[in-house]
Amino acid sequence: MESLFVTERIKTLLPQIQAFIETELHPLEMPEYLAHDFSHVEPILQQKRQLVKKAGLWGLHLPEEDGGLNLTLCEFGQISEVLASSPYGHFVFNTQAPDIGNTELMHKYAPKHLKDRYLNPLMNGEIRSCFSMTEPEFAGSNPTRMGTMAVKDGDDYVINGHKWFTSSADGSAFAVVMAVTNPDAAPHKRASQILVPMDTPGVKLVRNIPIMGHAGDSWASHAEMLYENVRVPQANLIGAEGAGFLLAQERLGPGRIHHCMRFIGIAERSFDLMCRYAANREMEEGVMLGEKQFIQGFIAESRAEIDAARLLVLRTAKHIDEQGASAVRDEISMVKFFTANMMLRVIDRSIQTHGALGMTNDILLSYWYSHERAARIYDGADEVHKTALARGILKGYGLNTRKK
Ligand SMILES: Cc1cc2nc3c(=O)[nH]c(=O)nc-3n(C[C@H](O)[C@H](O)[C@H](O)COP(=O)(O)OP(=O)(O)OC[C@H]3O[C@@H](n4cnc5c(N)ncnc54)[C@H](O)[C@@H]3O)c2cc1C
Repeated sequence: MESLFVTERIKTLLPQIQAFIETELHPLEMPEYLAHDFSHVEPILQQKRQLVKKAGLWGLHLPEEDGGLNLTLCEFGQISEVLASSPYGHFVFNTQAPDIGNTELMHKYAPKHLKDRYLNPLMNGEIRSCFSMTEPEFAGSNPTRMGTMAVKDGDDYVINGHKWFTSSADGSAFAVVMAVTNPDAAPHKRASQILVPMDTPGVKLVRNIPIMGHAGDSWASHAEMLYENVRVPQANLIGAEGAGFLLAQERLGPGRIHHCMRFIGIAERSFDLMCRYAANREMEEGVMLGEKQFIQGFIAESRAEIDAARLLVLRTAKHIDEQGASAVRDEISMVKFFTANMMLRVIDRSIQTHGALGMTNDILLSYWYSHERAARIYDGADEVHKTALARGILKGYGLNTRKK
């Protein structure tokens, strides 16, 4: 870890978390779990969650008043990297997306009655949640356009809409739904975020969408959803009416740092597997795979790329801590596409180094290869982030590019 960013409390915490992950979670990396649905391994993970609580490592990311440490984003990012060395790390520490994003959102903007009923059990790990914004009929890259409507009726909203890629909806207690409440307002002021309990009549989970041949279940799934005449109290509004887009933007700043540091953790672990294999695979008598220059190239390039990405992401996290996410939007865009692509290259090189073994569920790599390809699409596709960054740079040269 970069000493530039390591604080005293992180210095103590990181080895503890690292030891927990290696002892309790790395042994779960076996085909029996990696090749099956999440619900298969979930009972064991729930037991591991109890161990995290016993070890006093639960809820570290939360504000002080909720038993957390008020960690800066830069500090939490470093923890996130360590958690990501296991595909179960974030879940076991209750820092998994989308719950962590909903927790942050509700802390800041939910009214007290929603905090009491939903946020507290969410923080305790008793329930899960999801975030329902993207729709199949509209380009998710432009979330100011959406078809889901929330119409006032008495004290309620009545919601109708079609969503998909509502991650982790399967088994969630509630969804934070983005719906248009103010159709006549400016595009970025039309939608609101509304908490919808999943057992409300009219909420339908149509299917868990198969991704790369696998539909998944429970937390590890992405649902198509229908909201048909779903009636919830207007008091379930999170933040101001019409502020949905603004809140989504605010959520995505720190959220992208969480993802990027997770990508780095995955890359670092894939790198470690690659080096171990290269050092031990005998190609001919007395000649190891790591002596081949192609493989040395994989190793050298991966080392440089992981370190560069980590420095960039931690620098950006520090800037967010100091200046707020909106002040460093271009930087956030830069680290999102740079780190996602770096991770995928490192996983790919590690698979290549392992030969046929790399394609199996006997080691982690193929699990990550299929689950993480989406990193270049969600939370802003590469092209959107590259365009945003370039536009910001060109502005400094006097060229004001219109958003096209
Ligand atoms: C695994 C996964 C999990 C997800 N989880 C959630 C979730 O929990 N909740 C939720 O609401 N949504 C979720 N999403 C949806 C995600 O946010 C959207 O997929 C994303 O915003 C892109 O929208 P889209 O798929 O409609 O693609 P489009 O907006 O239709 O874009 C398609 C492609 O066009 C290109 N493109 C887009 N804009 C530009 C541009 N300006 N210039 C050049 N090229 C461009 C990009 O290559 C992009 O991939 C998830 C997606 C995935 C894959």
